[in-house]
Amino acid sequence: MFVENVKLSSYSNYKIGGPARYFFEAKSIDDIIKALEKWRLLAPYQIRKANFGSGVFTLGAGTNILFGDEGFNGLILKPNIQLIKKEGDILRVGAGVLISQLVDYLINKNLSGLEWAGGLPGTVGGAVRGNAGSFGGEIQTIVKEVVSLDISRPQTKIIRRNNRDCNFSYRSSIFKLNKNREIIVEAALILKKGDRKLMQTIIEENINYRRQKQPLEHPNIGSIFKNVALKKVAKNAHKSFNSVIKNDPFPVIPAAHLISEAGLKGISHGGAMISPKHPNFIVNVLGATAKDVKNLIQLVKKEVKKKFNIGLEEEIVRL
Ligand SMILES: Cc1cc2nc3c(=O)[nH]c(=O)nc-3n(C[C@H](O)[C@H](O)[C@H](O)COP(=O)(O)OP(=O)(O)OC[C@H]3O[C@@H](n4cnc5c(N)ncnc54)[C@H](O)[C@@H]3O)c2cc1C
Repeated sequence: MFVENVKLSSYSNYKIGGPARYFFEAKSIDDIIKALEKWRLLAPYQIRKANFGSGVFTLGAGTNILFGDEGFNGLILKPNIQLIKKEGDILRVGAGVLISQLVDYLINKNLSGLEWAGGLPGTVGGAVRGNAGSFGGEIQTIVKEVVSLDISRPQTKIIRRNNRDCNFSYRSSIFKLNKNREIIVEAALILKKGDRKLMQTIIEENINYRRQKQPLEHPNIGSIFKNVALKKVAKNAHKSFNSVIKNDPFPVIPAAHLISEAGLKGISHGGAMISPKHPNFIVNVLGATAKDVKNLIQLVKKEVKKKFNIGLEEEIVRL
């Protein structure tokens, strides 16, 4: 049932990462529960202790993860649940559904609320966990309920949370704060009736904007650093950022601006490069390793701190 020695680079949008000791792709909640029962019998205590207590890491589409060159000595579990089902006013969606698939479905059904996600990579599970957002929108605004599995106990437990109990905040949720203790399996969404033409126009505009501004021609994992909340920056410095502040969905200084002003555009290390097109992206231009990327991340943090006295925080997940 588990596949051994699977190259994580094949499951990473970055094309970076060493081998996973075990890998399992689940198609249903039942699949996951059975796999976890087997895993608890198979996994030595040392593996579980060293990796989140369960030894299990949940994978979506791998669009936000930097896998290490040494790989992962545990079980990578991909909950590839492909449900999309309308129940009255609610749409139940499986964690493995790609956001792009969902956006297409909603256009067909004239359902509005996710237009901001045109061109957003990744799965529904990944988006809920990180409260993904763009163009002023966030997934939390359409989530009614999330179903997850608590895998930290000897018996897997199903949890249902309403929106409030998910503790959504900027690029965060209870699932992120719980650090790999839960696998999101399903989300119930609330959408409004939309105008198909208008929705299509907005979605296409957003996709085109990304094509123009983001270095999609190279393997990448999106923005490496969080934009910096204006309220975290010393008041006397605000004036110098006036022309670049944007709402995301609160006033922020784009990390890309700070990296660019620190003179780091186009700098490379091994096969990785700070994108000249969008400096908050570190792209894999030529067989980059995780170590190459980590070196550039360190460099950016050091130089931005030196120039602006601002500590950049990472948005990506490292494993
Ligand atoms: C070109 C590009 C542009 C991007 N633009 C944006 C943007 O505008 N806004 C934005 O918010 N993000 C953006 N991202 C980042 C990324 O697309 C999102 O974070 C996305 O939601 C991640 O989904 P995923 O399925 O790929 O998750 P993964 O990368 O596979 O995983 C990310 C994290 O979520 C966890 N996870 C995944 N699935 C589940 C699950 N079912 N249950 C529990 N935990 C889970 C993983 O364990 C990991 O910790 C961009 C990425 C790229 C490559």
